[in-house]
Amino acid sequence: MLGKRLRKYMPALVAGSLGILLTINAGVASAGIGVLRPGAGNNPPKTPDWNVKNQEGGSGAVTTKDGKSVQKLDKSKKTTVTMLSVMLGESLSSVKVSASGDFELVDGNGGKVLRKMPANVSAEVKISGGAVYLNGEKLASRIITLRTGKGQQVVYNGSSYRGQLRLVYDGSGIQVLNIVSLEDYAKGVLPSEMSPSWQPEALKAQAVAARTFALYNKGKGHTASSGYDLCSSSHCQVYSGTAAETTTTNQAVDETYGQIMQYNNQPIYAAFHASSGGATENSEDVWGNYLPYLRSVTDDDSKSPYHNWTSKFTVVQVEKKLASAGKEVGNLKSIALVPISSSGSVTGRSASGRAYGVKFIGTNGEITLTGEQARRIFGLKSAMFNVRTERSVQVPAKGKKKVTASDGKTIDAKPAAMNDGIMKLQGVDNVVFEGHGFGHGLGMAQYGANAMAAAGSSYDVILHHYYTNVIIQEIY
Ligand SMILES: [Zn+2]
Repeated sequence: MLGKRLRKYMPALVAGSLGILLTINAGVASAGIGVLRPGAGNNPPKTPDWNVKNQEGGSGAVTTKDGKSVQKLDKSKKTTVTMLSVMLGESLSSVKVSASGDFELVDGNGGKVLRKMPANVSAEVKISGGAVYLNGEKLASRIITLRTGKGQQVVYNGSSYRGQLRLVYDGSGIQVLNIVSLEDYAKGVLPSEMSPSWQPEALKAQAVAARTFALYNKGKGHTASSGYDLCSSSHCQVYSGTAAETTTTNQAVDETYGQIMQYNNQPIYAAFHASSGGATENSEDVWGNYLPYLRSVTDDDSKSPYHNWTSKFTVVQVEKKLASAGKEVGNLKSIALVPISSSGSVTGRSASGRAYGVKFIGTNGEITLTGEQARRIFGLKSAMFNVRTERSVQVPAKGKKKVTASDGKTIDAKPAAMNDGIMKLQGVDNVVFEGHGFGHGLGMAQYGANAMAAAGSSYDVILHHYYTNVIIQEIY
């Protein structure tokens, strides 16, 4: 099945042969390569919707009746803006909150007024002996809502937010939730997800993606026990409130007001990432599950600073990283991986050229990682990579074919010829991953989106490029 799939793009990186294998004797300590954050959707959707495979959304679904690619809502059907609950803090024993204008603390989600407070004066909510105290006074309620006047902002932990704050005692601590409109949430998210100086149409595409991602998660429960929609960290989308807002990003949100991407009349799981490496990925090749709108497409990744990257490890570092991931192989003897190439079989590579199976062979056995597993274990920027070896030995004198390895043994200067997809090497000191792109590769690639915008594409064209057969729908 995999072999039949056509690759739409192959970075012009490698050449030649089918596999490499390296054999090693190396030493030396460790170095950490941190996993940087590439965009939203690093965790597969909480509620699987894989069963949409055979439903509508075929070609033509993107064309609306009036020929426009954004479906506007009838004015008669306009409804109110969707509200979200976003967690700003949890498991807290005490919390101070305030607002830029006079504010009220009310019982529950909108009950009687417990306290009226002037602007910029903090109210303190504490848990003691299993009870909730507001400014030292014991309450019967476990939920307090802070609301302020129109145009004012609520304040928690030094940051300002639109909407309301809701403090919930869940039995173990206080949750601080921001009850905020989808539009205001998008404004607080966008500057953290894409640079405000980027192309306006790319920012608009990101605004629709951010809004869609949030709506997908609404009502599903962040975790089984939590009563909110989203957290404010990179686990979901980084949400920083009003301090983060900029003119350009707010404009991108306003100009796409109420618009989300739908498939089968449902908000899609709008995964996105920083840089594709030249082609995005099919969902099943990252998560093992098919999503009809997350298909591999090519893009212009040439302007991305992550278009080419290298990560180098000693053999000992590789052994340690495998072991700490529960994938111990003993002393590493070889690695096998089908390289990215421009022709031939695609076995071992996904539709976009990302690695499927990277085999590590050691004295205690062998394990095969998916490209995605390797990405996480080694902190690689993407799963679109090749592996090569690097010898810390002198280049041989002219005409000589032997060199001295770091362990003093004399070895061939060049790797042995490839045999059945496996190349045996000796005396290798370093394992070098050379790759393209940054992130899981699903959905919109931000650098590619910016390149499309710079070349004149509007945000709807950009979204339709990266999200297959979706409809951009105005929902309120
Ligand atoms: Zn989250």
